[in-house]
Amino acid sequence: MTSGFNPIRRRPWPAGDSRPVATPLSASVVYAAETPDALDALYSGRDAGWTYSREGHPNAAVVAGMIDSLEGAEGGVVTGSGMAAVAASVLATVSTGEHVVAGDQLYGRSLRLLSEWLPRFGIEATLADPTDAGSIAAAIRPETRLILVEVISNPTIRVADMEGIFAAGKKAGVPVAVDNTFTTPAAYRPFEHGADIVVHSVTKLLAGHSDAMLGYAAARDPEVRARIADAAVTMGLTPSPFDCWMAERGLYSFDLRFAKAESNAAALADHLSGLPGVIRVLYPTRPDHPDRGRAAALLGSRGGNMLSFEIAGGRAAANRLAGAGGPAFAPTLGDVGTTLSHPASSSHRGLTDGERAAMGVSEGFFRVSVGIEDIGVLKSEFTTAVAAAVGGADTG
Ligand SMILES: *Cc1c(COP(=O)(O)O)cnc(C)c1O
Repeated sequence: MTSGFNPIRRRPWPAGDSRPVATPLSASVVYAAETPDALDALYSGRDAGWTYSREGHPNAAVVAGMIDSLEGAEGGVVTGSGMAAVAASVLATVSTGEHVVAGDQLYGRSLRLLSEWLPRFGIEATLADPTDAGSIAAAIRPETRLILVEVISNPTIRVADMEGIFAAGKKAGVPVAVDNTFTTPAAYRPFEHGADIVVHSVTKLLAGHSDAMLGYAAARDPEVRARIADAAVTMGLTPSPFDCWMAERGLYSFDLRFAKAESNAAALADHLSGLPGVIRVLYPTRPDHPDRGRAAALLGSRGGNMLSFEIAGGRAAANRLAGAGGPAFAPTLGDVGTTLSHPASSSHRGLTDGERAAMGVSEGFFRVSVGIEDIGVLKSEFTTAVAAAVGGADTG
């Protein structure tokens, strides 16, 4: 047993000369270099390669490149979650004594980052209504260093005045970061309209199967881009190779999934609006949507896969609807399967009744992330669920 073959030291990888068609999963945390000179060349960027997976690894690079090309971006970084991408982008651009202006209906944890964590480091945030660019502009101060908005609000599906917000940012010299998770680059490419930073929860529509948690951030300015990457590496916000490998697989079918989910969403929105007991339906391309004109200007015929609707009957009816055995009642979005969420008991439970009422989020308010199922099945499931909710009104 003295052949010199020591598999613990140099683990076997019999790749031969054949090239795998599918991307290999590179779980290695660390990459060996031949010499100090070679390592130097890697760290300084003269040579391409890897050192330590928190600093970067092949599976993350593949996913970053795919999303870069979807967004028309360069040098984006993939992070361990969408929140990691939001946090890295904010921390890379704002310092103590400075200020952020943000949409008042951002993703719940983004709001929490701004309102509970940043103040601990001497950074203030002002929330403003992104459907009114004037209110965003009015919130800008001399020390404002970032405007952070989402294009479609959660859960009320309002459409932000993106052109007005970009103009306000430009006039004041403040970069605009866009969380493009709901719209996706299939419906809207923020860099083409004036965004300085684009972030994603890749966990949602881009990966698309609720089995990988990842984020993405890219910046137009190479210096900002490098600071975001450095924030992610320093704070340990970088992703697992396995999640990247899963997300890559999801990304290959992103366009197909999104198109199908979107056409389902448009058809389901119309179907819901005709069901007895449904008070209102919110979907960007519907003629009764409050931001219909702006949605058309911004997204064309694309309305995305998210819709919301409201039924009569309060919490009791909501319990019957969610319990009717239709779509998964789960607080996420962007899965291949349709999911239903109830903001009053989940994402918006921390608000007072009055605050929820001001947003139009009642106990009968549901958000639907429409998936790629057969539309006939979806319509019939929702018909049954709404009938169960409304029909049981006198027993609940
Ligand atoms: C889910 C989500 C996030 C956070 O992403 P995670 O991957 O869950 O960390 C950020 N923004 C929006 C709009 C989201 O929907």
